[in-house]
Amino acid sequence: MLAIKAARLFDGENRALLEDPVVLVEGERIAQVGPASQVPVPEDCEVLDFAGAFLMPGMIDLHVHLTSTGDADPRKSLNDPEAVLALRAARQAADTLQGGITSVRSMGAKYDIDIKMKRVMAEGRLQGPRITASGRCVTMTGGHGHLGGLEADGPWGVRQAVRSLLKAGADVIKVMATGGVLTEGVEPGAAELSLEELQAAVIEANNAGRRTATHAQGATGIRQAVDAGIDSIEHGCYLEDDVIERMAAKGTALVPTLSAPRHIIEHGVEAGIPQYAVDKTKEVADAHRESFYKAYRAGVRIGMGTDAGTPFNMHGCNAKELEYMADAGMSVLDVLRSATGTAAAILGEKAEVGRLQAGMFADLLVVDGNPLDNLGILSQRERIKAVFLNGSRK
Ligand SMILES: [Zn+2]
Repeated sequence: MLAIKAARLFDGENRALLEDPVVLVEGERIAQVGPASQVPVPEDCEVLDFAGAFLMPGMIDLHVHLTSTGDADPRKSLNDPEAVLALRAARQAADTLQGGITSVRSMGAKYDIDIKMKRVMAEGRLQGPRITASGRCVTMTGGHGHLGGLEADGPWGVRQAVRSLLKAGADVIKVMATGGVLTEGVEPGAAELSLEELQAAVIEANNAGRRTATHAQGATGIRQAVDAGIDSIEHGCYLEDDVIERMAAKGTALVPTLSAPRHIIEHGVEAGIPQYAVDKTKEVADAHRESFYKAYRAGVRIGMGTDAGTPFNMHGCNAKELEYMADAGMSVLDVLRSATGTAAAILGEKAEVGRLQAGMFADLLVVDGNPLDNLGILSQRERIKAVFLNGSRK
């Protein structure tokens, strides 16, 4: 058994911070959490005392692309062979973990590399976060992400695509309800998969006990996805008021990925990002930020996701997103929840992570300083004192 001590603890959900906490870890899981005065540490227990430090759940990034490199021009690596993409993904997964991210939801990986990586990780041969993997995304013929995705048309075509992903081992189904910024020739505002096609994807996924997420930027596509019963809207650039209300009422999550447009706009064409991507991002950026804030005010469940792998959006620097969410109007405590307890709820009831409670997997972060005073410390590598995954220090 292992006892981890620190000065303060945030459990991933509650407002109250625990002072002088101890977390007892038995194998892969948390056995007990409480103030040191009330939790007796067994005699044969290894004690790690991080005096003065802040303990919190390992962070969860709900939207990453492990095979994408963060290159200025995303077209550059798209046609690389599977082995090259897989080796990069392995490196990028390790970087992600070192950045304090202990769980990711992979939202589209060419050749289903994310699913394959999980196998190697389960063998203990590869360092990286826990992965909830989508495999390839499902997109209409020529739709957003079609170069690495699985093209399908018509409800039966989509059903077959989803079934083949489930057969391959997908944990979650990612579909494309609208166009996007990074695929040349498609428009972010345009609806892509139809209502019937989205419904078909949701039914097939739900039948297999899986959740669904959709890339959705334009208003019509978002509305259709919410109507179809999708579990989470990714990006959500143009959220209309009545759709926001329905998302809040139904529990449809929003994963805003504010990092993606921010890096594209900050670096621009000068840094080598294609003109079409910069132009389309500038067009949607203001609406995106406004939609995020409105959804937050209306009580929509918001989870942290970065879209890591898009231009200059580097794996391992995921925690920057927390600052961007706070900049856009979210309270610091809600930001921390969005990356821990709330993100876990969006992953699903089987995700026993994101909360420091007895029975959960022991995925923890030890931070030098208090993120509630300064979220910026979470993206400073020297401030991350330790990362625990499954009860072992990484
Ligand atoms: Zn994405």
